[in-house]
Amino acid sequence: MTLNSSGRKRPNILITGTPGTGKTTTAAALAEVTELRHINVGDFANEENLTNGWDDTFDCYYINEDLVCDALENLMEEGGNIVDHHACDFFPECCFDCVVVLQTNSSVLHERFTKRLFDCPRGYSDHKLATNSECQIFQVLLDKVKENYPDDILVILRSDFLEDITKNVETLTSWISNLSPAV
Ligand code: ADP
Ligand code: MN
Repeated sequence: MTLNSSGRKRPNILITGTPGTGKTTTAAALAEVTELRHINVGDFANEENLTNGWDDTFDCYYINEDLVCDALENLMEEGGNIVDHHACDFFPECCFDCVVVLQTNSSVLHERFTKRLFDCPRGYSDHKLATNSECQIFQVLLDKVKENYPDDILVILRSDFLEDITKNVETLTSWISNLSPAV
């Protein structure tokens, strides 16, 4: 079976959301259940030296988006990838069969930030915390996703509590197995 005439045998899924919403936790859990490949774009760019200096807003290296896209081209064509990244606008629309946006209540997110539970190396300053909470509240990221991908591949999932991760992984696993029986 091929997906949407894309030529891929297994789906590509983008998991996006503001930092701290649980992208990496969810992607890793989903990869374990489905045996799809988890690509943490930030880690990949760092490992492959595809970065352009430090991004003070997101407290991580600026990613050289063109180089990352090129480097991942073959894997994306092959399919079977779970791409984990806070930005959603540098992969072409045709790369993905499903775009998952994780959303977390801003006070829950605030707590995760103040405990420095998320995976950027230096922790967040108050300024960045406020900016990111606003981002979350005003759904900047969701608007961007909607600009870049069609509604019918978009899935918005809550990620407030640990049970949500289990539930979300179940939802996505069943979606994937309906789409590609081989998984
Ligand atoms: P992201 O990759 O989006 O920045 P992470 O997956 O690194 O987020 O999660 C950030 C922190 O929040 C981790 O400590 C993780 O255990 C916790 N976390 C993520 N999702 C949830 C959730 N749904 N409920 C409770 N804690 C969560
Ligand atoms: Mn992460």
